[in-house]
Amino acid sequence: MKITKDVVVSIAYTLKGDDGVVIDTSEGGEPLSYLHGHANIIDGLETELEGKTAGDKLKVTVSPEDGYGTRDDELVDLVPISNFAEPEELEVGGQIVAETDEGQMMFTVLEIGKDNVKLDGNHPLADQTLHFEVEIKEVRAATAEELEHGHAHGAGGHPH
Ligand code: ZN
Repeated sequence: MKITKDVVVSIAYTLKGDDGVVIDTSEGGEPLSYLHGHANIIDGLETELEGKTAGDKLKVTVSPEDGYGTRDDELVDLVPISNFAEPEELEVGGQIVAETDEGQMMFTVLEIGKDNVKLDGNHPLADQTLHFEVEIKEVRAATAEELEHGHAHGAGGHPH
């Protein structure tokens, strides 16, 4: 079975940055299962997997534009520390989720001052060229329920 829209794909993968350091890997755990054609994985990787089949191995390089975006300095902001219910929980380099005008967003804490906290709304992998090594473990038809939900169920899929 070839990978095309509406199939469930299981992949073992390792993701490295330009410096060769492993950012993420499925090694030692379940392969990742996702529903193809529903933007459940980053664009640049999904496009390359199209048409492949179980057993195929591929190396995919994804530019920031097709990955987690390019850095936008406007997403770095100072927020009064009094806005935080538990400021003692903040940690430089840590990540927090906050409500914004555009819904929930993830921020990285850059600096913690006396009065303000400097937050960065850029994705931690923004500006990074991503190097994936992927092995396709399984390709199967999606169930009606998976199509309805827009994601894969079962091992390595959506956890419900
Ligand atoms: Zn579901």
